[in-house]
Amino acid sequence: MIVIMKMDHTQEQSDAVIARVQELGLKPQTIHGESRSVIAVLGQVLPEYRDELATIDGVDEVLRVSKPYKLSSREVHPDDSVIELSNGVRVGGGRPVFMAGPCSIESEEQLWAAAKGVRAAGAHLLRGGAFKPRSSPYSFQGLGVPALKMLSAAGAEMGMPVITELLSVRDVDAVAQYSDVLQIGARNMQNFVLLEEAGKTGKTVMLKRGLAGTIEEWLLAAEYILSQDNPNVILCERGIRTFETATRNTLDLNAIALVKRLSHLPVISDPSHGTGKWYLVRPMSMASIAVGADGLMIEVHPNPDHALSDGAQSLTPANFAELADEARALAVAVGRPFAETSPALV
Ligand code: PEP
Ligand code: MN
Repeated sequence: MIVIMKMDHTQEQSDAVIARVQELGLKPQTIHGESRSVIAVLGQVLPEYRDELATIDGVDEVLRVSKPYKLSSREVHPDDSVIELSNGVRVGGGRPVFMAGPCSIESEEQLWAAAKGVRAAGAHLLRGGAFKPRSSPYSFQGLGVPALKMLSAAGAEMGMPVITELLSVRDVDAVAQYSDVLQIGARNMQNFVLLEEAGKTGKTVMLKRGLAGTIEEWLLAAEYILSQDNPNVILCERGIRTFETATRNTLDLNAIALVKRLSHLPVISDPSHGTGKWYLVRPMSMASIAVGADGLMIEVHPNPDHALSDGAQSLTPANFAELADEARALAVAVGRPFAETSPALV
């Protein structure tokens, strides 16, 4: 952190800053520039010190120099994190993966049709919602624990690790029992207690970006999980809410490219929620791979027009297979080919 003094500050005022910095147990270092004096503050700087020092007379501005997030930052971990899941699936490190499956698990039949389709098309992870965060309490809320069991059985049978949303601290044990990856949904990005509890399970956690979450808030939220001694965190850009209403959300491709630079954590793109329209999922998948995403999360339903949630943005298995072919070709062209998958088992 650096404290920039006003042009006309007095010696007493800079002495007061130095005294307060020392009282806080930090080391002040004064740098006299040609027109300005600044005081560098070294040590473990808490975010609240910034506001406090800014109120001292003679101070013009207080600027942060190192990032407020630490464990997720490339400053402390220059190499990409690679997360190892079951069946040899690895997320991160320059080989993208597909996570695909239905928005909600609705029945055995629906789940298996989607799972077989995405597996045959080369998906690495199977997704499916059991606890659904719906805007209306009158909408389908998910089948709960029975759906977790179906998902786990389908993943095991088809040799795919599974990912499902952990909606509440109430469900931590059940979701951790049946799922390889715990998804924290956009609406819970800043549910800090949930983040801590998810982190404590030691399972891989995929943290979606909040509807109005800034990149810094997103990385700070990841910090809550990482600080539970759990290094297995994946980030997921799923679109943010903007003034635009023609699409469900605005998939922030800037964020994917920027977060890959700021952080060592894998970044997945979710063009299904990012666009809300099935016919935009393919082009935005290509764009996501081009800007550096470590994978795609795609909603796939055997009958999107009968889906109990997110049908408008769901692909049929056949459409997903076309998308996967195109994405693989593009990934080769940009020098980051998709991770291998073993041949489909069923
Ligand atoms: C989902 O993945 O089905 C979901 C609800 O996602 P989000 O939290 O991004 O809205
Ligand atoms: Mn959905």
